[in-house]
Amino acid sequence: MPARPMIVRALTLLAAFLLSVVPLRAQLSPEWTTAQKPFHIAGNLYYVGSRDLAAYLVTTPSGNILINANLATSPPQIKAAVEELGFKWADTRILLNSQAHYDHLAGGAQVVRETHAKLMVMAGDAENAENGDTHDFDPTGDLLPYEPVHVSRVLHDGDTVKLGGTVLTAHRTAGHTKGCTTWTLQVHEGAKTWNVVIGGGFVALSAYRLVDLPGKPASYPGILKDFKDGFALQRKLPCDIFLGAHGAYFDMQAKLKRMDAEGPSVWVDPAGYLKLLDASEKAIDERVAGERAGK
Ligand SMILES: [Zn+2]
Repeated sequence: MPARPMIVRALTLLAAFLLSVVPLRAQLSPEWTTAQKPFHIAGNLYYVGSRDLAAYLVTTPSGNILINANLATSPPQIKAAVEELGFKWADTRILLNSQAHYDHLAGGAQVVRETHAKLMVMAGDAENAENGDTHDFDPTGDLLPYEPVHVSRVLHDGDTVKLGGTVLTAHRTAGHTKGCTTWTLQVHEGAKTWNVVIGGGFVALSAYRLVDLPGKPASYPGILKDFKDGFALQRKLPCDIFLGAHGAYFDMQAKLKRMDAEGPSVWVDPAGYLKLLDASEKAIDERVAGERAGK
């Protein structure tokens, strides 16, 4: 092939690639990047994320735990939120994660560089963290790769993370990602002790296949079992305060509006937690029925 048509062809391919990527970047929800005033949830638990991409700070006398580093652009925003609450960014000792997609872990490498926090990630997601999610099982590529980040400790279902008297438990609630993690902890506010659940992810992306059918393999072996086991596990978790990796999971903005008048009890919502589990499991069951019907 002459050189010139080859260049034209290469440019056409490049244009097609850019067209396929650029709209995606433009699709980043403004709620993901718009700053949220940080706030105290209860006990030693604080919200330091954006309007929808949740990040949590757990403070202890031995340093702090950050849950979720979010987008590549999020760490400066999270740092500012931590400092606005009066805590030191450099006191971040441990970084945890809800799920190894770019909207929750792309900022991980920068957080680790700046704070020297140890990143701890569930098996299944740890590989994604270390390769920047380039091997994810979503075939459409609508998940953006990110800067790989070293995982200091690979977690398994039921493992605990302890720092300065606070204990967090990692529950493997996979399907959305192979190591999607629901975090639980107890917080103490006055004489009250509250069980906190931070949901990791509940949804099968549109390109996922849950059922293994001839010629249409499941997105990964066992994905449907992972989703169903995850829902069963989550139904057993004691839940007072209901939170999640996205503010939308637990209706954060609506609850925030009530917080001035009602205090931290707005976050106590076991019924909302069960409602989300019911709706999410129903959506998975409907997807399964659709796939079995040939959709
Ligand atoms: Zn995700």
